[in-house]
Amino acid sequence: MKSILKTFYIFCTLILLLGCYGKEGLLLNNTKTIVTLDKGEERSDCDTLVFTCIDYRFAFANQEFINKKLGIEGNYDHISIPGSIYNLVDPSTRDIVFSKINKFVNFHLIKRIIIIGHRDCGGYGGSSEFGSEIAEYVYLTTDLKKAKQILIEKYPILEIDLYLETLTKEGVQFEKVK
Ligand SMILES: [Zn+2]
Repeated sequence: MKSILKTFYIFCTLILLLGCYGKEGLLLNNTKTIVTLDKGEERSDCDTLVFTCIDYRFAFANQEFINKKLGIEGNYDHISIPGSIYNLVDPSTRDIVFSKINKFVNFHLIKRIIIIGHRDCGGYGGSSEFGSEIAEYVYLTTDLKKAKQILIEKYPILEIDLYLETLTKEGVQFEKVK
């Protein structure tokens, strides 16, 4: 009887161990993991602050665009807020956004701000709010330019770049807004 119980306990332990195997994405309480870093140049600051919306549909493309296409991997701070610059353009919430930007700009000696807005943004109520693609484009690019103007007034020496991204069948398209 004892040996049956012993076998049963060993079996249960194995099941538990196997259950944990391969689930590193879900850390158990009191366990730790390390993500290794490609040690580049040691820095105490970074050049760029990037603004994006929180929208999950653009998250991966944003990282690829910023890291690979803009080539600033490891050299930027990243603020994601719902609606991207919606709350910066809105006078009633602008001060809250600025209080956060200020910290980054001063702490990391930021020289450039990149703003990436996107179509079909929940912060604006989605594409359907605008009635047409052109109306949405005009509205969003106007807001991006307003955000740039607001930032320039606050930080006249910073370079500010604007992008509008669109979800297409081929992937996420980025367009520079002048
Ligand atoms: Zn959005």
